[in-house]
Amino acid sequence: MAGPRVAVVGSGVAGAGTAFALAAGGAEVVVVDSVLPGQATAAGAGIIQPWSSTATGPAYELYAAGAAYYPTLIERLAEVGVADIGYRVTGSLVAQADAARLDEVEERLRRRTAGVAVAGTVERLGERDARALFPPLAPELGAVYVSGGARVDGRMLRAGLLAGARRLGAVVVDAPARLVPAHTGTCAVHTPGGDVGADVVVVAAGAWVNSVVEPLGYRSPSSRSAGRSLTSSSRTARPLTGRRSCRSPATTSSRSTPAASWSARPGRPAAASTRGSPPAGCRRC
Ligand SMILES: Cc1cc2nc3c(=O)[nH]c(=O)nc-3n(C[C@H](O)[C@H](O)[C@H](O)COP(=O)(O)OP(=O)(O)OC[C@H]3O[C@@H](n4cnc5c(N)ncnc54)[C@H](O)[C@@H]3O)c2cc1C
Repeated sequence: MAGPRVAVVGSGVAGAGTAFALAAGGAEVVVVDSVLPGQATAAGAGIIQPWSSTATGPAYELYAAGAAYYPTLIERLAEVGVADIGYRVTGSLVAQADAARLDEVEERLRRRTAGVAVAGTVERLGERDARALFPPLAPELGAVYVSGGARVDGRMLRAGLLAGARRLGAVVVDAPARLVPAHTGTCAVHTPGGDVGADVVVVAAGAWVNSVVEPLGYRSPSSRSAGRSLTSSSRTARPLTGRRSCRSPATTSSRSTPAASWSARPGRPAAASTRGSPPAGCRRC
């Protein structure tokens, strides 16, 4: 039996990762993104070192699980022919002038990295040793070094995840998307080239999330919405914060009528993904 048809709005690291995971799990995936200027994934420093974070509870657990997942992710992408996502274990320094505060950081790091293979080892460094590893460091700063700290190139990671998703059958459309109420209790992912029908819609639109979901009367509960994905489906039908549940019209409408034309935008990174790939299952407005 075919998996559910999922429309993912936004293809920064959150949307691209979602698309890859869903395609690998057998879903029929359509990703819609117009690659807006200001995409956080392209701007991010890509530092992967969750263990010194002051985050706690589920937020920290998710953060740490994400860091630990990279080796598996790299393997999974290699299985579908994606060779390099720009992930490098570089080691990381947490620098601090206040020795007492650095003590706290060191204690937290040692506690959280114990038994975590990907985190490597933790070492307290004096000013001189810290500067030897990172010469621009101010002379008064001591540091704690974590050998498993890593960096990832956000653009390469995103491109690799999208390439992997496409190899598993996902379609990537370069277009602005809007969620629009379709008929009672349903919504459609509207693009200038046609509506994308889906059983489930995942909104991973980063800082733009509210502009995507507000036409449905929803609002992200957090103003710091970058990096969050919001999901709504005919099955879960859980409103975010707002009036309506969101059900895709695909359960009742055309899955197989392609949009008439899907053009690539020159010079956009996502453009290649759309060339010659009408989003199967999209219907014309
Ligand atoms: C300067 C900076 C440094 C950072 N450094 C780090 C770091 O060192 N380590 C770390 O872990 N994190 C870091 N981050 C945070 C990290 O980059 C973000 O959390 C992450 O990239 C967010 O990804 P995202 O997919 O949620 O959002 P984005 O990457 O912003 O993607 C959202 C996508 O949605 C698309 N979109 C929005 N609206 C629409 C629409 N209507 N139709 C179609 N498409 C739409 C946009 O075009 C965009 O591609 C940093 C962020 C910044 C800005």
